[in-house]
Amino acid sequence: MGDSVTRRQFVAAAGAGGLGLAYASNSRLAVLGGEPVRKAPFPSWPVIGSPEENGLLEVLRSGKWFRGYGDVVNRFEKQYAELTGARHCLATASGTAALFTSLNALDVGPGDEVLVPPYTFIATINVVLLQHAIPIFVDTDIETFQMDVTKVEPAITERTAAIIPVHLGGAAVNMDTLLAVAQKRKIPVIEDACQAHLGEWRGKKVGTLGTTGCFSFQASKNLNSGEGGAVLTNSDELAEKAYAFHNNGRGRGVGGYTFSYRAQGSNERMTEFQAALLLAQMTRLEEQARLREQNAAYLTQMLNEIPGIQVAKTYSGCTRNAYHLFMFRYRKEAFAEAPLEKFLKALRAEGIPCSAGYSPLNKEPFIKNVLNSKGYRRIYPEKLLKQWEERNQCPMNDRLCQEAVWLTQTMLLGTRQDMEQIAAAVRKIQANAGDLRSV
Ligand SMILES: *Cc1c(COP(=O)(O)O)cnc(C)c1O
Repeated sequence: MGDSVTRRQFVAAAGAGGLGLAYASNSRLAVLGGEPVRKAPFPSWPVIGSPEENGLLEVLRSGKWFRGYGDVVNRFEKQYAELTGARHCLATASGTAALFTSLNALDVGPGDEVLVPPYTFIATINVVLLQHAIPIFVDTDIETFQMDVTKVEPAITERTAAIIPVHLGGAAVNMDTLLAVAQKRKIPVIEDACQAHLGEWRGKKVGTLGTTGCFSFQASKNLNSGEGGAVLTNSDELAEKAYAFHNNGRGRGVGGYTFSYRAQGSNERMTEFQAALLLAQMTRLEEQARLREQNAAYLTQMLNEIPGIQVAKTYSGCTRNAYHLFMFRYRKEAFAEAPLEKFLKALRAEGIPCSAGYSPLNKEPFIKNVLNSKGYRRIYPEKLLKQWEERNQCPMNDRLCQEAVWLTQTMLLGTRQDMEQIAAAVRKIQANAGDLRSV
């Protein structure tokens, strides 16, 4: 990094510190009774207006609430496919349903292993267990918070039936390395892009690079219909299989809703109401994504100047971060050894909502219980189930879970001044880190 960049960052940080400096060394932490840096709330979510109201009322009054009667889900699928550049889009009831449908379309089931990251939302793991397959955890790259794809190949066995990389927080997994291994070993890739709407890898939308790509439109996500999901694929065959699976085994077109079955299936369908909300929310998606990017860039610059704070890095191939989360590492060495919980408590008291994010999912006792269940013991050799524990080592992820701090995407929809106050609050805590002892 050149001098000029460093100086520019310093000036930006110092400028922002007009606010920050006022709190520097002599002002009391809010958690200890001092004045908080900020009292105003951050922007609320979801953002709604007449497009949402009109879309919902239209579906309501039409009486066509089911995708088999109306055309709104079809319209959403077409638009989302166009937006992402995917050949096919299948709308589903949730992101979990999208992952579940993908695994079924790809015939992943009992006897199979699926490579997953330990740093993700639990749904990524649950769908593997629902298929009576075994989740094999691949450690995390602590710098980026993403699956460490250099550890994928050593984890592959003859049972490996799929890899589920998660574009965590909206930034892409290293897809060059991952796809090279997957192609070499002929293993399908199910991208979990549930947090990565409009995220890109080398100019292509994430969710279109793997065998399938899965999205969530659950209430917290950057594209929101309360619940909802989608599967993207460029394969005609998989699109048909996924459609049939999500529609009780009934195919598309004539006979789609008659009693003729192609395969085992489920009902994972989206309602017309959800699709109407998504079409309305999509009119705001690009503008919101741009605002998050701008604010995140400004905040990253300011926070990285603070000793002990390291914002999650992205791979150079990640040409667009969707910023579902703004994530950084807190190094207690630079904060008088104060544990993460105290830092979070102090930051919240300054008026900045934050959390510690995920716990290490590979250590969840329920997973071991499932692997020890009667069904799993019938399917898998005892030796294999025993080896699972030896293989299940993710030391970098364990460390990350003790250092991670998350801010939510809605905070990034605020103003530049909001970002300055976030940085000011962290700077204030840093300057008074010794006082965290009495928190
Ligand atoms: C939200 C999410 C899911 C599940 O989506 P739902 O719509 O809540 O079922 C799966 N994976 C990740 C990474 C998520 O963030």
